[in-house]
Amino acid sequence: MCLKRKKWCLSFLALLMSFMMLAAGCGGKGTASDGGAKQQADSNVTIKMLDVGQGDAILIRTPEQTVLIDTSDVDEKQKLSAALKDEKVKVIDKLIITHPHADHLGGMSVVFNECEVKAVYDNGQAATTKLYRDYLKTIKSKGIQYKALRDGDRIDFGGGAVFEVLSPTEDMVKEGGHDEKGKINLNLNSVVGRLVYGEFSMMFTGDAETESEKGIMKRHAPKELKSTILKSGHHGSKTSSGPKFLRAVQPEAALISCGKGNEYHHPHPSTRNKYTKYKIDFYRTDVNGMITVETDGHYYTITTERGTKNDDTGN
Ligand SMILES: [Zn+2]
Repeated sequence: MCLKRKKWCLSFLALLMSFMMLAAGCGGKGTASDGGAKQQADSNVTIKMLDVGQGDAILIRTPEQTVLIDTSDVDEKQKLSAALKDEKVKVIDKLIITHPHADHLGGMSVVFNECEVKAVYDNGQAATTKLYRDYLKTIKSKGIQYKALRDGDRIDFGGGAVFEVLSPTEDMVKEGGHDEKGKINLNLNSVVGRLVYGEFSMMFTGDAETESEKGIMKRHAPKELKSTILKSGHHGSKTSSGPKFLRAVQPEAALISCGKGNEYHHPHPSTRNKYTKYKIDFYRTDVNGMITVETDGHYYTITTERGTKNDDTGN
């Protein structure tokens, strides 16, 4: 599954990035495609970790579909709205809500009001908040197609991109996500899945914690987990990115979504140390702004709005 060649290019401006990719040849000249430059560009998958403060919102564009994973927080709505406008997103084929915490579900009104959402996926676990009730009401009133995701589901993202769901299981949702002390922790049942496009793959984790990671490793062989890039679980918190999980996933890079000066001090120093130990480059939205991954299924590039990889100065 190793990429035969990878090139990294970093830029401080998104526009400059495009120019650099053309000028420096960082745009993926994979032998997987024998077509011309245009055909290659059309067959790329782009993953953008939007810079939307303390929360998650990840925009995925495949050759055929637009997918949004999470909607960031209620307080970050304006940032999400601006980011979706910048990206000219009008239709979202698939909206995935990893779990119903406010920093993942909070911007859903922006998404439902400003975009046409064709289908919604989540883990099917109810929350007691008004935010969650409004979310369900909107899905019903707009007649949007809905499905609760379970380990083993495969969702077609179009153009050859597939999302393989690894967690939660039906039993986990029935149990309700109680932690070792018996307290409900909605993070535990986050939707976890692997986007696979050719030889490229990316593990999406929501706020899944080490307990969830252990379950995934019990149910799945390492080859089903190995991923080129990891979406750092729980904003880089120490609750996630367990060493065994990192060894199973073997990512080359980890992307962390967190707000500048956030009160939780995400990402935790121990997480950053683990990434360094396992030679995983990390990028973080509070330092790097929006982080963009582009792949043709063979090569990939990671570009940022500003700063460099492995910058430890954010918190
Ligand atoms: Zn979160």
